[in-house]
Amino acid sequence: MKHLTEPLRYCRSLTDIDGDLLRSIGVKTLLVDLDNTLVFWHTSDCLPGASDWLEERRRDGFDVYLFSNAGKKRAESFASEHGIGILPYAGKPWTCLFRNLSKRIRAPKSEWAVIGDQIYTDVLCGNLMGVKTLYVFPYSEREWWWTRFVRRIERFVLKKRGIL
Ligand SMILES: [Mg+2]
Repeated sequence: MKHLTEPLRYCRSLTDIDGDLLRSIGVKTLLVDLDNTLVFWHTSDCLPGASDWLEERRRDGFDVYLFSNAGKKRAESFASEHGIGILPYAGKPWTCLFRNLSKRIRAPKSEWAVIGDQIYTDVLCGNLMGVKTLYVFPYSEREWWWTRFVRRIERFVLKKRGIL
């Protein structure tokens, strides 16, 4: 059985996740993390390529939602600026909002993918919800102190799996 912190795919960056890859795994709805996946930590500044990536996925016909533990104001402002939906305060890795998400998103959950840069929040949450998960390597080392601490464990786990 797959471990709960094991994503379906490891991707070097968000821009490696193109429409072909998503279609090949049967995904139509994207739940995308914010910090260090789309933007530099705790800012609204997009990582290189992230803004175009969002635009392309929308043009490809994917339903894109921001799925972040970030504060409501910053998350809402980012989502509206980029014309994507929002599932504010995701509470990852807990799945207490799952019932709400299921009501909000029409597609069956077999067509959802959580995309994010942390295995103990994004990947774990996606797997607990029983949806597909795509891990992207964090862009920058500038993060909250707690995340930096958890990264040590992540790196150990990723090395053990032969990913790093
Ligand atoms: Mg993140």
